Amino acid sequence: MSLYSRDPILLTPGPLTTSLATKAAMLRDWGSWDAAFNAVTADMRRKLLAIVHGQETHVCVPMQGSGTFSVEAAVNTLVPRGGHVLVLINGAYGTRMAKLTRMMGRKTTTFETAEDVPTTPQDVDRLLAADATITHVGLIHCETSTGILNPLPEIAAMVKKHGRSLIVDAMSSFAAIAIDARTMPFDALIAASGKCVEGPPGMGFVFARRTVLERCAGHSTSLSLDLHDQWTYMEKTTQWRYTPPTHVVVAFNAALDQLLAEGGQPARLARYTANCRTLVDGMAELGFRVFLKPEIQAPIILTFHAPPDPAYTFKAFYERVRDKGFVLYPGKLTQVETFRVGCIGAIGPDEMRHAVNAVGDTLAEMGIRQVTPKAGTPARAAA
Ligand SMILES: *Cc1c(COP(=O)(O)O)cnc(C)c1O
Repeated sequence: MSLYSRDPILLTPGPLTTSLATKAAMLRDWGSWDAAFNAVTADMRRKLLAIVHGQETHVCVPMQGSGTFSVEAAVNTLVPRGGHVLVLINGAYGTRMAKLTRMMGRKTTTFETAEDVPTTPQDVDRLLAADATITHVGLIHCETSTGILNPLPEIAAMVKKHGRSLIVDAMSSFAAIAIDARTMPFDALIAASGKCVEGPPGMGFVFARRTVLERCAGHSTSLSLDLHDQWTYMEKTTQWRYTPPTHVVVAFNAALDQLLAEGGQPARLARYTANCRTLVDGMAELGFRVFLKPEIQAPIILTFHAPPDPAYTFKAFYERVRDKGFVLYPGKLTQVETFRVGCIGAIGPDEMRHAVNAVGDTLAEMGIRQVTPKAGTPARAAA
């Protein structure tokens, strides 16, 4: 362990490393009924809506809890009890969306591709043409379990062409990858405080099409996750329906101000892209190989093949890298052994270079010589 009690840098897809200004914003107490706090909520909702250019068509409804709570609230409120949801899966978050949809009693159909294969608009065209009972399509924009980016603009256009409703989990892409409600039609899009806006975890939010949400009263099978009720109560009173995570909201709003000062989504994408390139190049010099092909890789989180050397175990590798100040993330694949490194958070290419150095030192300490996957190791997951 380091002698200095500094927080490690979190190379994880949320919670992630936040700026000092964001952390400092959490040092005050706020009354949830107070006008000053409710002004923060309104300001936050306005800024969020502008990031997706949804001011004319959508509303932003925040929800307490981690990101999954907001996915569940969106599905449970948008989809009528007799609805039928097609969930497009190529990783753990797609599987989770299908599971929660099923648990809420909505008819659920899944379409699954391998973890390194994006869903295509042609897939969606075929599936929707074949089943007229499908009312909604669920899509994960960036599937964080690998870092793969699914083609949101093309799939959104295809769902619209078929006259169905699109629900997007954009948790790990929002504010980093361009999302434009004017050109990518969706009825609900979900993200959370502790991802690319670089706030603390504890709150999600849903961009819902106003004309759709207005007709969703009574759909929800859950009291606390009723997005329609949360929205109408907030519009009427300016307050949250139940206790808000006040410190998280205020810190998240501070993080939003920093996002705008940095230059908004394009600037954030540029920084994460630089982080990603620095990481991939540095790790390649050490012998590491990335699991996904570059053309389908989002600059959010990278999946690396684990070294095939017998001296390697993830646990020891993780602990040694952590003791040098960097927290890695385990892999989530079943077919091949991997680990993940996030590119997001209040960090830049310098931190990525230091992280690569820590990994290099760890390889030497552990006596790991064979870093590159041996020939014959599947470069990609089996389907
Ligand atoms: C982080 C994330 C979520 C939410 O996960 P929680 O554990 O509930 O915060 C959902 N979908 C994706 C794609 C994510 O990256």
